[in-house]
Amino acid sequence: LYNMVQDLKGNIRVYCRIRPSFSPETKNIIDFIGEDGTLVILDPLKPQKEGKKVFQFNRVFGPTATQDEVFKDTQPLIRSVMDGYNVCIFAYGQTGSGKTHTMSGPPGGSMKDRGINYLALNYLFQLSNKRKDMINYDIHVQMVEIYNEQLEIRSCTSDNGFCLPDATMRTVKSTTEVLNLMKFGEVNRAVSSTAINNRSSRSHSVLTVHVHGEDTSGNILRSCLHLVDLAGSERVDKSEVTGDRLKEAQYINKSLSCLGDVIMALAQKNSHIPYRNSKLTLLLQDSLGGHAKTLMFAHVSPEEDSFGETVSTLKFAQRVSTV
Ligand code: ADP
Ligand code: MG
Repeated sequence: LYNMVQDLKGNIRVYCRIRPSFSPETKNIIDFIGEDGTLVILDPLKPQKEGKKVFQFNRVFGPTATQDEVFKDTQPLIRSVMDGYNVCIFAYGQTGSGKTHTMSGPPGGSMKDRGINYLALNYLFQLSNKRKDMINYDIHVQMVEIYNEQLEIRSCTSDNGFCLPDATMRTVKSTTEVLNLMKFGEVNRAVSSTAINNRSSRSHSVLTVHVHGEDTSGNILRSCLHLVDLAGSERVDKSEVTGDRLKEAQYINKSLSCLGDVIMALAQKNSHIPYRNSKLTLLLQDSLGGHAKTLMFAHVSPEEDSFGETVSTLKFAQRVSTV
């Protein structure tokens, strides 16, 4: 039934999430959030009526939406992974708009406000346990970072907790093990971010869960779930950055537009899907298209100084959701 409901809704869905405002003294550009996925924002430089821009998504989560509310709408998708579907969940948006909050939760890793990565894995283990008399599931987890079109395995823990740079995958039996794995990933990210000037916002971080199931009559099921915290989508001013920063920005631009192209080509049911144009789409190939299900969270900031980036994020997301 879950998959029937999902199928009726289509294979590509877009949710918008607006983070709370951090500066009450600046103007808030959010005008209206509808139950039906309508979002109206206001151009701070135009008079009320002329400044309204209307967008339509599958759902819009406002600044007060909790992590649990967001997860509740994601849960059926996670469930379908255990039934053999490949699923890809992206967090898209400018740096500071809440992508990492949605996927991982607040920094520091307290149990409160954990994000989709944790909640999804926890749910997969619950289902695995619930179905253990019928199906024997194996769950493997891998964390990968893509920086400047280079793939790096960020974290795969061994039993003694050390990072194994050459290990590609690791079987996990519990959420605690995954938590440890993710902590190592975060440590790695933190180390590299102080070393190379907050690199995490300029790399794509992919947590992949591989599920293998075998039922009592020997039928095999294989699927995977990709949970992707994308690099910041903000445009950099070419007149202001040079050298490594410019190169990074160009790589990010290229890979995000490749991702858009792939999703668009899939939605239009084109015969050629340009997976090979970026490392990201190549990595996610098995969970984009075919019977796979895709969910994109478009993240925006509510403050007026983000208006330009907010509009470009919403336009990108709107294009993905309406084709
Ligand atoms: P990004 O990953 O897109 O750069 P972050 O997730 O790091 O953005 O969010 C930026 C800041 O805003 C962080 O301090 C984060 O904890 C906070 N934040 C983002 N979204 C929310 C939210 N929905 N509720 C509360 N705080 C949030
Ligand atoms: Mg982030």
